[in-house]
Amino acid sequence: MSETQKISVARGDGIGPEIMDAVLSILDAAGANLEVEPIQAGKEVYKQGHPSGIAPEAWEFLRKNKVLLKAPITTPQGGGYKSLNVTIRKSLNLYANVRPCIAYHPFVETLHPDMDVVIIRENEEDLYGGIEHRQTHEVMQALKLITIPGTRRVIRYAFEFARQNNRKKVTCFTKDNIMKITDGLFHKIFNEIAEDYPEIESNHLIIDIGTARLARSPEMFDVIVAPNLYGDIISDVAAELTGSVGLCGTANIGDNAAMFEAIHGSAPDIAGQNIANPSGLLHGGILMLVHLGQIDTAEKVHNAWLKTIEDGIHTADIYFQSGTYSSKKQVGTDEFAEAVILRLGSAPETLEPVSYNAPPASLLIERQYRDRTKKKELIGVDVFIDWHGVQPEDLASKLQEIHQNDTLELKSVSNRGMKVWPEGIPGIFCSDHWRCRYLPKDGRTEIGHNKILSLLDELQTASMDFIKTENLYLFDGEPGFAGDQGE
Ligand code: NAD
Repeated sequence: MSETQKISVARGDGIGPEIMDAVLSILDAAGANLEVEPIQAGKEVYKQGHPSGIAPEAWEFLRKNKVLLKAPITTPQGGGYKSLNVTIRKSLNLYANVRPCIAYHPFVETLHPDMDVVIIRENEEDLYGGIEHRQTHEVMQALKLITIPGTRRVIRYAFEFARQNNRKKVTCFTKDNIMKITDGLFHKIFNEIAEDYPEIESNHLIIDIGTARLARSPEMFDVIVAPNLYGDIISDVAAELTGSVGLCGTANIGDNAAMFEAIHGSAPDIAGQNIANPSGLLHGGILMLVHLGQIDTAEKVHNAWLKTIEDGIHTADIYFQSGTYSSKKQVGTDEFAEAVILRLGSAPETLEPVSYNAPPASLLIERQYRDRTKKKELIGVDVFIDWHGVQPEDLASKLQEIHQNDTLELKSVSNRGMKVWPEGIPGIFCSDHWRCRYLPKDGRTEIGHNKILSLLDELQTASMDFIKTENLYLFDGEPGFAGDQGE
């Protein structure tokens, strides 16, 4: 028998403690080789004044045990509280979120009987850095960061996951028709890494049509990988399509730690009534057993759960009486767990029994990925100016007056991403946030940072409120910046 593995367990709030008890009783009865160390996280910890909802001493356990099974927690309303999930993901570098979304037709009502999709979401980057600013009266911004190492890791993980789980196809969702640099990078790296997996079909869809197709024909998809925000949205769409959010579990995977949970929240409306469905957290537990290499136990628990569902033993959220198939017995949380335990060792007869393979090899190669070999040349600057005039021509002539006879010259002015000077569309609405692009006369000569400093100095002397700058670089001669609409 394998060595006992210590895991941290957070019992959570609302229905958390009751579904966690149910899940641990099933894992224990199945012979999972686990030693449970409880950690404090959730509502009470927030109330004690820890803004991220996790007790400071819990970090030591998390880092030592490397695996957390977490019940849902209640995030208190109001300012100052941070999301516990975001804090844990970022602090432990849990870069991939894995969410299998599977229909259990005809035993759970669903619009999509053949749905069997795994959504793999990048978990740390994108707009979730929460780097936001207001620098003018009218305009707010959020910074979308997509990194090469972060993207390589999650896409590598998606293909390794597909290979490990005998999945045939990986689809990438981005919006790179609009965000050519950030989403374009995600798509480009997807294409590069796909070449290492010739046995797996790969394709890309723009996120909007992709989501529409996922909602209409989920059977078209197998594994989907996406940047953080899109992945967040489509993984909820996909979970809902299976028939019940109470059924899905999820894994948050890092190189040195992992967290497993249900996808639903703490359901305070039904807490303490022994009616919650523990299946979502149980699926989180099964993903955890696979991650820990306890494959036989994972299969045993999963097949017993499928048999329970197939036998029509259902909690209230999935209980139904209609059509060709009806639930047989409505049970509470504890009774459901007992029914699963009773079926340990059995396999489903109509639903496909599961079998798991060992987890993928270490992905450290991707974590250490660094490539700084491209030639990087500074060739200009975008200066963002807070200006409350309305005519772009007025701003442009003012700026041309301020800065003359130097390497850098004002090439264009844009507002909300639309070119408004020279030759902008007349009468277009402009906010007070103006992007003024300065480039050398030929548009490509390398400049020093001092050119930017002297330009800013002149703007300051003329009392122009420059609110930020973005340097314009070429990488091996390729522009590292987008053009404007209308350019
Ligand atoms: P919720 O998922 O808790 O509940 C939505 C609905 O689904 C409710 O009607 C609930 O009764 C039902 N439901 C949820 N899980 C169920 C289960 N296992 N069995 C049967 N029915 C179930 O979402 P919410 O009401 O928006 O959020 C409640 C709290 O949970 C909030 O404080 C929220 O911040 C928190 N939350 C936590 C997590 C997490 O810890 N990962 C995730 C989402 C929400």
